[in-house]
Amino acid sequence: MERLDVFMARANAAYYATHDPYADFTTSPEISQVFGEVLGLWAAINWEAMGQPDPVLLAECGPGRGTLMADALRAITSVAAPFRAALRVHLIETSPRLRALQAARVPDATWHDALANLPPGPAIILANEFLDALPIRQYVRRGEAWAERFVAAGQAVEHPAPGPDTPAIEGDAIEGDVIETCKPALDIASHLARRVTHHGGIALFLDYGPAESAPGNSLQALRGGEPANPFAAPGEADLTAHVDFAALARAARAAGAAVHGPLAQGKFLSRLGLFQRTGRLARTQPPARAAALVQAAQRLAEPDRMGGLFKALALAHPALPMPPGFEP
Ligand code: SAH
Repeated sequence: MERLDVFMARANAAYYATHDPYADFTTSPEISQVFGEVLGLWAAINWEAMGQPDPVLLAECGPGRGTLMADALRAITSVAAPFRAALRVHLIETSPRLRALQAARVPDATWHDALANLPPGPAIILANEFLDALPIRQYVRRGEAWAERFVAAGQAVEHPAPGPDTPAIEGDAIEGDVIETCKPALDIASHLARRVTHHGGIALFLDYGPAESAPGNSLQALRGGEPANPFAAPGEADLTAHVDFAALARAARAAGAAVHGPLAQGKFLSRLGLFQRTGRLARTQPPARAAALVQAAQRLAEPDRMGGLFKALALAHPALPMPPGFEP
């Protein structure tokens, strides 16, 4: 019998080390190049607001194929050459296989296994669909207590497990409700909040999950683009869970950072000019490619597609002005 978070960490480490995850799912930077481009411009505006520190770290957690960073750097090179000259690219990636793909797209990067190993100094840190891969624990309301979910012989099993980490019973939880905790994500939020508060900078998370914490079992496995049993074949499917943005925001505020969002991804990207930039790019392309670009932008931004469930959350040095896209 294994605790769910231990199982999930083991399964995902094996999965990312041995699979091409993009055979099983796709992500925003793979859907449209404009996603990474507008995030590059977002980073450039924040760099100006930070007082143009030189050098500055431009870091990304879980960069996948390196597409977001490559698109961001291309946009930065064309409109913010001084920022391009000042920035040093740092990538946080545990999978050797994905590191090799990233090196092909972003040759001048430096790699780290963990965020804590980033060198000190002002930083702009991006993370798209990174937190959803981090291991969660699940608790089920049974009577007057939470039972914890474990994995045994390819199945989820419940055990009454009153431990120091078990959450308190909230007033509105009913029998059978599932709640999830993700301590690694909260630790990352606190760590980055302390970092940007002490060294300057800003961190941006884009991921899927509700704006308000709510009960629900969000553990999901994708195999070949199809939902699969998360427990059946560890290492063969990508395991993810919804990100609890409200909990991240609380952890970051407690650590001293200014918190912006969570805000729906569609609103955030639209305010950053996703559609204007897509339109300008589309005009230079043959009709079929132009139509595909517009459709890709709609997929990222429409509320009933990726624009609603996905959220943007920024943790910033308290003296920085409102980062672009988060204006009330
Ligand atoms: N951001 C990319 C990839 C998302 S998939 C995109 O948008 O396409 C998740 C990424 O996080 C992969 O690169 C995976 O190898 C990495 N990853 C997962 N768990 C990690 C961990 N604990 N530490 C560092 N990287 C991790």
